[in-house]
Amino acid sequence: MLINPEVTVAFRCLECGRLTFDSTTPFKLVKEHGVMFPCECGRSTVTINITEKMQYSITVPCIACGEYHTYTLDKRIWREPLNILTCPKSGYKVCFLGKEQPVLRAIEDYDVELDKALMDLNFDDYFKNDEVMYEAINKLHEIAERGNLYCTCGNDNIDVLLKPEGIELLCKKCHARGFIYAGSIKDLRSIARLNTIVLNDPILCTNKRPEKEGG
Ligand SMILES: [Zn+2]
Ligand SMILES: [Zn+2]
Ligand SMILES: [Zn+2]
Repeated sequence: MLINPEVTVAFRCLECGRLTFDSTTPFKLVKEHGVMFPCECGRSTVTINITEKMQYSITVPCIACGEYHTYTLDKRIWREPLNILTCPKSGYKVCFLGKEQPVLRAIEDYDVELDKALMDLNFDDYFKNDEVMYEAINKLHEIAERGNLYCTCGNDNIDVLLKPEGIELLCKKCHARGFIYAGSIKDLRSIARLNTIVLNDPILCTNKRPEKEGG
């Protein structure tokens, strides 16, 4: 029986948003007592360590909340074709681990899903950042479905306008406005934290654009 003991790791950088795709073997991991997968930019990394109980402790940067999350997995990481690690706060998929093909497919599926959604919207090349916009639209749907999108005037029929930089919200009844920035990886963190959107409420003020990119 031929066994391919390689495990492939894919994650998105917390700082630059780039996708890192790398692999290792259990032998290397044991020999070196751990392994790191740094992003090309050098500013974030996935780390896998072996614990005393012979489990694997995996630390992953999360672009949704701007922090690192640690997961403990057992030997199944070598067996399972695909493990998806998600952010405990936002549910965002932060790391794909497993055999090369299923990991590649999972990332492709995600991209196809994204392309399809944007094609349906007919907004080719319109948004500043397609991926962040896609997350923002999903999040907005989720919030609206739970009945958590409304205006302080009592109206819950809010107009949604997609702009290159984000989503504009408008109450037709009292003309209150709100804006969800969705133009950069940093905006994704604010989006992940949103639970309720109330127009005319200070909560949207917490979703102001953070300091300038790259500066
Ligand atoms: Zn990076
Ligand atoms: Zn997170
Ligand atoms: Zn209103």
